[in-house]
Amino acid sequence: MNFKKVAIIGLGLIGGSIGLAVRKELPDCVTSGFDADAKVRERARELQLADDIHDDPAEAVKGADLVILCVPVGAMASVAAAIAPGLSPDCVISDVGSSKRSITDALTKALPDHTIIPAHPVAGTEHSGPDAGFASLFHQRWCIITPPQGAPEDKVHALVDFWEGLGAMVETMDADHHDRVLAVTSHIPHLIAYTIVGTASDLEEVTRSEVIKYSAGGFRDFTRIAASDPTMWRDVFLNNKDAVLEMLDAFLTDLALMREAIKAGDGEMMHDTFSRTRAIRRSIVALGQDDPRPDFGREHD
Ligand code: NAP
Repeated sequence: MNFKKVAIIGLGLIGGSIGLAVRKELPDCVTSGFDADAKVRERARELQLADDIHDDPAEAVKGADLVILCVPVGAMASVAAAIAPGLSPDCVISDVGSSKRSITDALTKALPDHTIIPAHPVAGTEHSGPDAGFASLFHQRWCIITPPQGAPEDKVHALVDFWEGLGAMVETMDADHHDRVLAVTSHIPHLIAYTIVGTASDLEEVTRSEVIKYSAGGFRDFTRIAASDPTMWRDVFLNNKDAVLEMLDAFLTDLALMREAIKAGDGEMMHDTFSRTRAIRRSIVALGQDDPRPDFGREHD
């Protein structure tokens, strides 16, 4: 089965990108959209992020066979309640949230009679809002689908086809496993970036202008991540608490070992660790998941 009408709730970076990507890659599929913010709806109409943009969430989902919730993780349950009156009985409810267990539980509770198949496109930028969306966001990026036990296979396949149609590579896994993997590959790195940028700006002996001036020494790449949407990331940490705490403990143990190595002058330990991490970076580039050019292809005078 192919989806004929997709409703997108939340028309920011991810929702807007889905709307643009569907129009480009799946032209037979109709889109409708809703956002809680009237200004976002107005801008989404100007940018034509969906074929029809509604002022009422229940109207937006009418006739849709796939509904994708593209709102912050903490808003998923209230959005599910708001769309409930307009949902077709056999439509698939999916989402794009960055944590999966709490969303699966919240959506199953809010919409017990519907098919819930959560998903997470591992693609994004540090920008947010309707102007941030672009059609190729999902090209060659992973989308993880976490079907709950008993999810109808034909609908899971249809969702896989949908994301592959937008250019993504799809993997399916259990929601808890997703949350542990993403805690270490995405959530902890964001936490570290937010923290180190905060630490540097708090240091009294380093002036703000020096922090900016010498940022190319590694700090700049942290600032890109630390510019990510505060609401989105607050909700990720509130909703993936257990996995984040588990991975944070592992990280703090390793950081303490590194501190000891520096204190003891253990160059061998440091060299071994840095060689291992360099190999990981090279394999990410080899898999086409990052820009291999020096300084990520940034232009220099
Ligand atoms: P975004 O650009 O801020 O877009 C979210 C939109 O949803 C905003 O326009 C927001 O309006 C709207 N919204 C908030 N509450 C709503 C509600 N109750 N009903 C309808 N609309 C509502 O955020 P995003 O980056 O697209 O993130 C959306 C989801 O994608 C999040 O769950 C996030 O975890 C996930 N995700 C993000 C990335 C990334 O890199 N950004 C990657 C993968 C997945 P207001 O701004 O007025 O609140």
